[in-house]
Amino acid sequence: KTKKKLLDSDGIRRALTRISHEIIEKNEGLDDIVIVGIRTRGVPLAKRISSKLEEIEGEKVSTGILDITLYRDDLTTIANQPIVHQTEIPIDITDKKVVLVDDVLYTGRTVRSALDALMDLGRPRNIQLAILVDRGHRELPIRADFVGKNLPTSNQEVISVNLQEVDGEDAVVLKEQ
Ligand code: 5GP
Ligand code: MG
Repeated sequence: KTKKKLLDSDGIRRALTRISHEIIEKNEGLDDIVIVGIRTRGVPLAKRISSKLEEIEGEKVSTGILDITLYRDDLTTIANQPIVHQTEIPIDITDKKVVLVDDVLYTGRTVRSALDALMDLGRPRNIQLAILVDRGHRELPIRADFVGKNLPTSNQEVISVNLQEVDGEDAVVLKEQ
């Protein structure tokens, strides 16, 4: 059941534009930056951020994909098992600054596995996290460096993230489960 539209396509575009500027500012440019999207919807978000970064700074940005599935037994415990499938990262991430991108940050378990997967691939200089929606309920000491929208949710609420590339439209909607 739809409760509230949180971001329309302009809202998503503006959030990603702001995040792109914040990435450039925090890193004093784009040297050694690699953008890595977490499948599914982190991937189009990562691509949009990369394009925006290239547009702003006029230089190419390496972009990759991490594929992680979370097997949830119970939506509220950290006992759930994230499984890392294939990774498509075009360059060696050793000494790079990796910006992980995902649609929603919740317990933090997906990001924790993404950190493991990245560190298995090389020794990045640092890893940063960009998230379109932070819905709260963290169960691990993980936070995002760049956040599109903070939205504390109740246990009955979920965030529906629709992106043009996957869903045919851009919208972030709060739903009752
Ligand atoms: P976490 O691992 O932090 O518990 O959950 C984050 C992962 O699960 C993200 O990859 C995200 O896509 C998905 N996720 C968790 N909660 C939601 C939600 O309310 N809406 C959507 N669209 N994805 C969610
Ligand atoms: Mg996901």
